Amino acid sequence: MSVTTFDAVVIGTGQAGPSLAARLAGAGMRVAIIERKLFGGTCVNTGCIPTKAMVASARAAHVARRGRDYGVVIDGPVSMDMKSVKARKDQISGSSRTGVESWMRGLSNGTVYQGQARFESPHEVRVGAERLAADKIFINVGGRAVIPAMPGVDRIPYLTNSSMMQVDFLPRHLIVVGGSYVGLEFGQMFRRFGSEVTIIEKGPRLVGHEDEDISDAVRGILEGEGINVRVNAECIAFERRGDDTAARVDCMSGDREVVGSHVLLAVGRRPNTDDLGLKEAGVETDQRGYIVVDDELRTSAPGIWALGDCNGKGAFTHTSYNDYEIVAANLLDGEHRRVTDRITAYNLYIDPPLGRCGMTEAEVRRSGRPALIGKREMTRVGRAVEKGETQGFMKVLVDAETKRILGAAILGVEGDEVIHCILDTMYAKAPYTTLQRAVHIHPTVSELVPTMLGELKRLE
Ligand SMILES: Cc1cc2nc3c(=O)[nH]c(=O)nc-3n(C[C@H](O)[C@H](O)[C@H](O)COP(=O)(O)OP(=O)(O)OC[C@H]3O[C@@H](n4cnc5c(N)ncnc54)[C@H](O)[C@@H]3O)c2cc1C
Repeated sequence: MSVTTFDAVVIGTGQAGPSLAARLAGAGMRVAIIERKLFGGTCVNTGCIPTKAMVASARAAHVARRGRDYGVVIDGPVSMDMKSVKARKDQISGSSRTGVESWMRGLSNGTVYQGQARFESPHEVRVGAERLAADKIFINVGGRAVIPAMPGVDRIPYLTNSSMMQVDFLPRHLIVVGGSYVGLEFGQMFRRFGSEVTIIEKGPRLVGHEDEDISDAVRGILEGEGINVRVNAECIAFERRGDDTAARVDCMSGDREVVGSHVLLAVGRRPNTDDLGLKEAGVETDQRGYIVVDDELRTSAPGIWALGDCNGKGAFTHTSYNDYEIVAANLLDGEHRRVTDRITAYNLYIDPPLGRCGMTEAEVRRSGRPALIGKREMTRVGRAVEKGETQGFMKVLVDAETKRILGAAILGVEGDEVIHCILDTMYAKAPYTTLQRAVHIHPTVSELVPTMLGELKRLE
């Protein structure tokens, strides 16, 4: 087998690989790009883009059902055409995928290989019958849904975020196992489409990484729409019941089992690092399979970098893309950008959404530092009242000594956008007073952020 030599090999076309390949090729390097399945990876095909397209369909149904609240009369019940929901989602996701693919195939200095990449040695990768060599290799292989070792799981048909993409019908009763981001987004969306939905969570509350007040409010929003929530489900097991599936819940209270027509497993992600030949490359992984990297995303093997979800430093599109920015800037622009310069930020796309940045209140308390807290219910936000969407609240934590913002949560209408004025103030390393004195536009949700910052109290 002959070896083709490149200046760089990029494995995976997730949220870091394509931009990095384009940047390296643009700098005159000969680049090989390897993708084993769908161009664009998780976000484009089975993650952010298709789910947010479906969330939009679900919201349209929800608003239509609430039409009366706004004086809109819809004669007859609101129902879904699930084939159209899927077709709309496929069109949005598909055009993104073909955009990435044609971008990669059109790169001058770039060569695309389709197939499973596997290291043969630290500087050699095999794809099918081809062997590719390069001094620089970039791993952007992402992750996939965890299939938990719950009793009976191997004897039932189940869905994951990937197979959910093929659903063009309305499940009668969708059992969602996992009360975190992926599970809650699918759960609320299918409830709004018209399914009965039960969310089963092992822990004592939904979105267990968030503060308790956030978990409680999120649960209230979902239960308010008729979703059944079962927490403390410590012993989840499955059994086929005719065409249905019974999930044993064994919770501290409530029925011991839930019978549904479909089961979605949404209990976490694992990195795609088990079939990559990392041992042959001398690339270390941690106990959970994540590739160990330093602050500039170099692996334990010289000349090999790991970017995106597979390095365990982030689990989002924006963190993967930022990994690309870090590696490109350090390699090509002589900079020293680092992962630890990044501030934690993400959204939960239920409706209303949760925007989050920096530390939680619980983390601030644990840190023991003197801090200030501000909180405002969405019922006291004019724009939310005008829109008829007053669920949720916003809160912010400030360091009492430095006056820097430590973190924030905005659960409410436009929370996914409003969070950025707080995030940007944090990146600017400005005191909270800068934002407090900013004159925001009326009427917006954002205009109440300065007001909230003007009413800070000591965190007791
Ligand atoms: C349901 C869901 C919703 C989400 N929603 C959001 C959201 O709203 N916002 C957000 O920021 N994040 C969201 N995420 C997370 C987001 O999708 C990922 O963080 C993002 O895609 C970054 O992934 P990545 O760049 O690490 O790689 P990925 O996008 O996972 O891509 C990796 C690519 O590598 C390929 N590959 C893997 N192994 C090999 C190999 N050996 N050889 C060749 N190719 C290989 C894969 O086929 C894939 O195309 C969501 C995830 C899910 C599951």
